Amino acid sequence: MPHYCWLCGRSRANERFSGRGHRDHVCRECQKLPAAEKNRRRALVHMEGILGQSRIAEKNVRYLRSLAPSRAADVAEWAAVLLEIARVHPGRRNRLRRLKRHPELWARMRRLGMVEDFHDEPADEPGEWPDDDACYE
Ligand SMILES: [Zn+2]
Repeated sequence: MPHYCWLCGRSRANERFSGRGHRDHVCRECQKLPAAEKNRRRALVHMEGILGQSRIAEKNVRYLRSLAPSRAADVAEWAAVLLEIARVHPGRRNRLRRLKRHPELWARMRRLGMVEDFHDEPADEPGEWPDDDACYE
């Protein structure tokens, strides 16, 4: 049965995982990566998850702030853009429409490939969260 390595995003055969890698869901190849590279990938995977949530929560904002000064340029940019999204429109509902009103932010999202991945939820869906409150100041 293939296993999923969440660092490289591949489904790989059982033999591709060592004991510890099995537990961490990280394949042998990825385990050999330098720590900085593992951290970079892990951060990017986590941030993709945050983007997919129905709302960017305060604890996410704290996490993103810790990543913003990252020396990995793409991690820093993802964190900065997500923090801006959290400030402007943390809820997922109507996000696409709202964020298009912020052309600079929108352009940065497009560059990072964030835009293709999500679609507006139907606008008449009852909102779980008030949409206009920034989750931090
Ligand atoms: Zn892997």
